[in-house]
Amino acid sequence: MEVDAQIMSVRSLFIGRQNLDFMIDDCNLRKPEEACGLIVGTFENSVAMASDVMPVRNQSMSPYRFSIDPVVMFKAQKKAEELGQTIIGVYHSHPAGAEPSHLDVNYMTGTSYVWVIVEKCRDVKAFVYDGGVVEVKIEEKKGEAAGVTSRGPG
Ligand SMILES: [Zn+2]
Repeated sequence: MEVDAQIMSVRSLFIGRQNLDFMIDDCNLRKPEEACGLIVGTFENSVAMASDVMPVRNQSMSPYRFSIDPVVMFKAQKKAEELGQTIIGVYHSHPAGAEPSHLDVNYMTGTSYVWVIVEKCRDVKAFVYDGGVVEVKIEEKKGEAAGVTSRGPG
């Protein structure tokens, strides 16, 4: 419960420009289907610090919903832990729509993740569930060398 209490209070997401652009590109690449992936990093009090984003297959292969293989999720969490990190969030795209769907809200209530939604392959928004859906401020990380963690050039 301690971890949940900490994560519930997240009010901002720090993330590099290249990771924001990556999620927008992923939306464009996979539309009309929803793109989805994991965000790895650390929690520091009320701040979620993203270090990397990892695209994963949308098992639903749908323009209206997404699902992620639990085995992929488990392996990603293990890999993150080896780097002293954790999965801090899940991203997915709404190629045509906006705002969390009823289905999204159902998912959110069961997790402590930051939920990033790429609206219309253009606007990146972040939410947490804290008694209700709360939008989280996205702050661009500055002055960070590219590719600090797992991804190579490109
Ligand atoms: Zn959604």
